[in-house]
Amino acid sequence: MSTIKKKVYLTIDDAPGKYFSSKVDYLKDRNIPAIFFCIGNLIEQRKSEVIDAIHKGYIIANHSYTHPHFSKISIDKAKSEISKTDKLIDEVYASAKVERKHKWFRFPYGDKGDGLNGYVLPSPKFYGDWFRKPDLKRKNQIQDHLKNLGYTQPSFSDIQYATMRTNGLFDDIDWHWTFDIMEWATLENKPTFGVKDLNAVLARINQKTPLDTRGKTSNEKIWLNSNSSEIVLLHDQDETTEMFYKIVDRLLELPLEICEVV
Ligand SMILES: [Zn+2]
Repeated sequence: MSTIKKKVYLTIDDAPGKYFSSKVDYLKDRNIPAIFFCIGNLIEQRKSEVIDAIHKGYIIANHSYTHPHFSKISIDKAKSEISKTDKLIDEVYASAKVERKHKWFRFPYGDKGDGLNGYVLPSPKFYGDWFRKPDLKRKNQIQDHLKNLGYTQPSFSDIQYATMRTNGLFDDIDWHWTFDIMEWATLENKPTFGVKDLNAVLARINQKTPLDTRGKTSNEKIWLNSNSSEIVLLHDQDETTEMFYKIVDRLLELPLEICEVV
C-alpha cells in the first residue's frame, strides 16, 4: 500500500495527426501536461491546430521533418531535417504570440544517426550478442548541429536508471525515453513481445516489470517496481487513436503523477 507517486513526463511522438486536436483536448480536460514531438511536414498541414495546442499550454518539440532513420541519411540531410522543423516550430510559436521556451528534439525510432538504428543500449537478452560500436563521428556531427541551434535535454536527475546513465543517454542533446507504451506494436504483423491489442497494451502498463525494448542489461528494477521518474513514450498515430484515450485513463489509475518538466 504505497502512497508515494512516481513522477511521469508524458511525451507524445509523431504529432500532429488527424485527431491531434481531440487528443489535446482530452489531456487538457484532465489537466495532464505533455510534450508533443512533432513531425515538420505534419505541422505544415495542421498549423492552426498546433497553435491552439500552444495556447492550451502544450509544448511543441522537434521530431524531424519526414521521420527518417537518421543512420540511413546523409549528414546534410540530417541537419536539414532538424533545421526545417526548427524553423516551423519558431513560426507556430510566433503566430501563437507565445515565447518558445524550450528547444527539445527526439530522433525518430530513437536512431541517433550513429549506425545503431536506435538500439542505444546493449541488449543481448532481446537481440542476441549483436551490438555494434556506434559511429561517434557521425553521431557527434548531428549532436553538434542540435547544440548549435540551441537544443538541450534537461538533466533529469530524478531518473535513476543506471543503465541509461552509463550509456550516456542523459549526456546527449536529444531526448530518449524510459518507458515505451508500445501501442505501436499492435500495428505490426508480428507484434513485439506479443503486444497485439489494447488489452495487451493495458496489461503491460499494469505489470511491475514489463518486457521493454529499451534493452535492460542489468537487474535494475523498472517501471512500477522502481521509484525512478519516467519519460513515457506514447504516439499520436491515427490508427491508435481510440487506444490513446484508454491508455491515458489507465495511466491516471496508477500511482503516478504526470508532471511538467521544469
Ligand atoms: Zn516517431
